[in-house]
Amino acid sequence: MTTAISIDNLQAESPSTEPSVRIRDLNFHYGEGDLFKQVLFNINLDIYPGQIVILTGPSGSGKTTLLTLIGALRTVQDGSLRVLGQELRNLGAKNLVQVRKNIGFIFQAHNLFYSLTARQNVMMSTDLYPKDISDIAPSSRSADILTKLGLGERVDYKPHALSGGQKQRVAIARALVNHPRLILADEPTAALDKKSGRDVVTLMQKMAKEENITILMVTHDNRILDVADRIINLVDGNLESDNVVNTDVTNDTRTFML
Ligand code: ADP
Ligand code: MG
Repeated sequence: MTTAISIDNLQAESPSTEPSVRIRDLNFHYGEGDLFKQVLFNINLDIYPGQIVILTGPSGSGKTTLLTLIGALRTVQDGSLRVLGQELRNLGAKNLVQVRKNIGFIFQAHNLFYSLTARQNVMMSTDLYPKDISDIAPSSRSADILTKLGLGERVDYKPHALSGGQKQRVAIARALVNHPRLILADEPTAALDKKSGRDVVTLMQKMAKEENITILMVTHDNRILDVADRIINLVDGNLESDNVVNTDVTNDTRTFML
């Protein structure tokens, strides 16, 4: 008996889902004339919803530049960059703001407001603040995520009363509270001890899998590499290798050149 292949099966097997991030022939330089310096060379990359991708590479290799381009924080100069279905090249300021609303940023500098408590800092990124500050929902939602990140006792403290690691966790809570579709994180666990770092990535991993959130994370932290579905490596502005570490198809680590 021949096995009929249903259209459903074919669709399930083909990567019909639109990538969260789709990069084609992307080049980027800083400066002009004598100061011209190209830092990204012909980058091609697809990242799918729910994937956790770790970006590694030596200092100065262009990791932060690539992350800020994907985050619509820099202007695309050459090539194509689609983020959450939207081409960023030549996109107007208003539309760039719309794209950014669906992205949670966690950068090295945590940029907290020092006059606000941890909870208020997190509330800054909920839609209802400050228009409806009395609303219970964003306040408890903010306290909730802070508690999940181990800051339940520190919800109403201001940053000067928090350690470096605690401040970084407030910044992480701020990025996660709106359940963004894409999280861009630049060394999010660098200032954290082993247990806090693990708690943070476990929460991010849970969100990625349960809510189909895409995570692109720069890290040198060997302790958290195991959360990655893929590890990509940037060297002198070139994407050198792409290791698929977690697949349903094979347990082997497959390495291929891009
Ligand atoms: P990484 O995050 O991998 O350390 P970056 O993206 O920060 O790398 O930097 C890549 C290269 O671009 C480095 O040589 C850096 O000195 C340079 N660079 C970064 N930001 C700027 C800037 N604003 N102006 C000029 N050069 C920059
Ligand atoms: Mg960097």
